[in-house]
Amino acid sequence: KSFNEYTPPLLPDPDKLKARLMWNENPYGPSPKAAEAFSKAAIRGNHYSWNSLNALIEKIADREKVPPENVMMGPGSSDLLEKTALVCFGQGGHIVTGDPCYMSLVHVAEAMGGKWKAVKLTEDNQHDLDAMEAAIDDETRMVYITNPNNPTATTTNAKKLMDFCRRVSEKVPVFIDEAYLELSANGMKDSMAPLVAEGKNVFVSRTFSKIHGMAGLRIGYMLGREDMLKDINKITRGGMGITGPSVLAASASMDDDGFLSECREKISIARQFTCKVLDEKNIVYLPSQTNFVIFPIPMAGDVFLEKVYEDMVGVRAFKFWQKDWCRVSMGTPEEMEFFAETLHKIIR
Ligand code: PLP
Repeated sequence: KSFNEYTPPLLPDPDKLKARLMWNENPYGPSPKAAEAFSKAAIRGNHYSWNSLNALIEKIADREKVPPENVMMGPGSSDLLEKTALVCFGQGGHIVTGDPCYMSLVHVAEAMGGKWKAVKLTEDNQHDLDAMEAAIDDETRMVYITNPNNPTATTTNAKKLMDFCRRVSEKVPVFIDEAYLELSANGMKDSMAPLVAEGKNVFVSRTFSKIHGMAGLRIGYMLGREDMLKDINKITRGGMGITGPSVLAASASMDDDGFLSECREKISIARQFTCKVLDEKNIVYLPSQTNFVIFPIPMAGDVFLEKVYEDMVGVRAFKFWQKDWCRVSMGTPEEMEFFAETLHKIIR
């Protein structure tokens, strides 16, 4: 397998970074309304938060047009990806994903004895759905697709993906990770959530860490078939790891359309700026529909990271498709300027 992530240099004080562009966070979050809801709720920290959690589940179910029984909450979507892997790979088996893909679910599947089958994206950076379907065998326990994909930032055609999910979910569960969907060109129109409403064996995960800017508050959810969610809940309960203030902050953020569209706009401006910087250097990046951009670098990823971090600019570096890549998250205009200056010093 070609996929590898380079470990960044250890920093004595990560808070001193001039640009924090390694975790695809939203520099503008949380929404002031969400932050206010969070602070106000702290005083009720002596109470378990089941009532507000159930109210949030009802609200999400209503938005997603599914019954509440199809919603499972978690402290971030990683928690739900990993819990699902714990249950689906309890007896090992194969997981089919794109190459490259987001690794959290895959790592747990492997730790449980599962085997990773990665199928290279197509020439136009979409999931190769035909090849993925062909890779399914009697041992396959799940297909995992992130749309838009991380770390490539690219999307897979929604109509084709929907047909794929309908067919393939008759054989094995299909997990669609939509952590960045709000940031894509078509947005939620491309969601696979309607398949859950149809009763297909499809999971769809979402997070409050990206467009909502609440990565540190840890809250996310997934939609799935009621029997599948019950099986996962038997082993590890969904809502138990979420704090009450995060629940109320998430609910407030869902209602703050002005904040969400402002973030989308600012992130899109940062993306245009970054692409222009890369264009001027004749660097051919992958077309991004998210809050990060990935581009090939003319040196080993660890060497590149040393140089970038020396300038107190944080990014990530990967190796896949026999190339080294830098992935840069979209920060504030000031952070993107720092990144551009650093890049200019390293790649002339
Ligand atoms: N899925 C994808 C594709 C991601 O990129 C990330 C975080 O970067 C996550 C899930 C997990 O995010 P969280 O656990 O904060 O919801």
